[in-house]
Amino acid sequence: MSISNAIVIGAGIGGLSVAAALAKRGIAVTLVEKAAEITDIGAGLQISPNGLAVLQALGLEAKLTERAAVRGQAVVLQDYKVGRQVARIDLLRGSADRPYYFVHRADLIDTLYDAARRNNVSIELGAEVVAVTPGSPARLRLANGSLRRAELIVDASGLHSKTRLLLNPDSVGQFAGQVAWRAVIANEISHPKEAHVTMGPGRHLVSYPLRAGRLINLVAVEERAAWAPEGWSIADDPANLRAAFSSFGGRAGDMINAVDRCTLWGLHLHPVADVWHENGVVLLGDAAHPTLPFLAQGANLALEDAWVLAKLVDTLPADQALRKYQSARHARVSRVIKTAAGNAKRYHLHPGVVRSAAHLGLRVASTVAPGTMISAFNWLYLHDVTAARNA
Ligand SMILES: Cc1cc2nc3c(=O)[nH]c(=O)nc-3n(C[C@H](O)[C@H](O)[C@H](O)COP(=O)(O)OP(=O)(O)OC[C@H]3O[C@@H](n4cnc5c(N)ncnc54)[C@H](O)[C@@H]3O)c2cc1C
Repeated sequence: MSISNAIVIGAGIGGLSVAAALAKRGIAVTLVEKAAEITDIGAGLQISPNGLAVLQALGLEAKLTERAAVRGQAVVLQDYKVGRQVARIDLLRGSADRPYYFVHRADLIDTLYDAARRNNVSIELGAEVVAVTPGSPARLRLANGSLRRAELIVDASGLHSKTRLLLNPDSVGQFAGQVAWRAVIANEISHPKEAHVTMGPGRHLVSYPLRAGRLINLVAVEERAAWAPEGWSIADDPANLRAAFSSFGGRAGDMINAVDRCTLWGLHLHPVADVWHENGVVLLGDAAHPTLPFLAQGANLALEDAWVLAKLVDTLPADQALRKYQSARHARVSRVIKTAAGNAKRYHLHPGVVRSAAHLGLRVASTVAPGTMISAFNWLYLHDVTAARNA
């Protein structure tokens, strides 16, 4: 082991998983989180086989299913007017023996929080970090004025990370020209255990069941010119969502009409950070590489990062470990994030020849060769950072 102690900033999925993974390897970990309590914030997350590999290696899959994670059976692309199926990607084929789960973010946070506590991570809530200084030891300052030092500081404070800006002063996000409403509704339409992507001109709706099928998670994305702030908890009037999706019929229309509370999130494109570490300080998860949601990989990439970083820190001198961590992760996360950004265009084609041809191509592919649809994602889902060759 190259270090004996570390501080992790942020009790999100990245922070809690890296804290648990480091502590499991015998490193003394303190985790500082600005929120005063771990609350039920957030809604649906998709845990794909690549992220699940890390949860399995941490021994947490059973805990997740006890908390009513839903095993996803397919991703279905459908047209907006009446919900006609355009393509079906069967998740039960091809992804080896690893399921694909739909989970409530709060349930995954609880599972990781318990794992961190079981491994003796010391968790401080209501502890906002206001400054981080690389060095030996690395240091940080909390909003209450107290100073902390550690051999390693992992910044997992999410997309507004100040450390990302400290290490990458030019790394500024840009409004992507899209907004996403997020909502959770009761499952009164017997939504199958599938993720449905209902595609309309300039907009699409993603829906999938949560908590043993009792709830449905909705993410409704619209292209728009007017800037909107980037945040998870900004409330909006459901009437705006209904107006934007008034042309959606079938079950998609019914689900939109059932929304009584929603949030609005301005989607921003951020470059993957060029510099992930400096002298005992390192970025992880959204702090290093925020992503658009169109491939559902934000949480999965954070889990992958956590495993790789803990493994390298455990086996190499810290400076080498941090270099190797960035070089092991940069190309992978860049590819995922670029693919996610491309999906928005595919889902939002406007009526015309290109849209018809694209839909026809998807329909033919999913009917004639259903296995090829999922195998196109092998590079994403079969990537297992816990396998010996990747570790
Ligand atoms: C409140 C919230 C709700 C979300 N809901 C969803 C959702 O419904 N669906 C979805 O797909 N994704 C959601 N996400 C995003 C998703 O969890 C992340 O994209 C992904 O899991 C990567 O997580 P992360 O750990 O890198 O960052 P995050 O999940 O953003 O976690 C960062 C953590 O750091 C804490 N923090 C931030 N600044 C400081 C500071 N200065 N000092 C101390 N602590 C700090 C934050 O409070 C947060 O707990 C949500 C994120 C948040 C924070």
